[in-house]
Amino acid sequence: MQPCNQCGKCCLKYADGGLVATSAEIDQWENLRPDIYAYVHQGAIWCDPKTAAPLSVCPFLEKNQQAGITQYSCGIYTDRPQDCRSYPVTIDDMIQDECEMIEVKDLQDYAKAQQTLDRLMDASRPSVGGNS
Ligand code: SF4
Ligand code: SF4
Repeated sequence: MQPCNQCGKCCLKYADGGLVATSAEIDQWENLRPDIYAYVHQGAIWCDPKTAAPLSVCPFLEKNQQAGITQYSCGIYTDRPQDCRSYPVTIDDMIQDECEMIEVKDLQDYAKAQQTLDRLMDASRPSVGGNS
């Protein structure tokens, strides 16, 4: 498994109506980050602030091009929803999404690859008690 190379495939795929935010996250944005809250409509993310229509691309996804290489970054990284923090969750998802963290050796031993992924993601996933 290699580090995330910011290919952006996950954000491009799931921000098209595939993301959810908790009511606690929405409350926090309402109080502290009105610029993010503007893209919430009736609990759904991400929506056009003027029309409330669901957006097909996350408004916070930033495209960076340098030396012919395109990378994507999150404009609200420290305040992004847990749904975004938790990705990737399973090797199967990564394969389906063509996540570029996957290497050939991961395809040869799913169980080991899942253990490696779980270790990598430990800090950004909620703890069992839901305290993180
Ligand atoms: S909020 Fe950030 S991590 Fe989540 S989809 Fe948008 S750009 Fe990606
Ligand atoms: S699809 Fe995988 S490699 Fe690409 S940005 Fe998402 S986590 Fe990183």
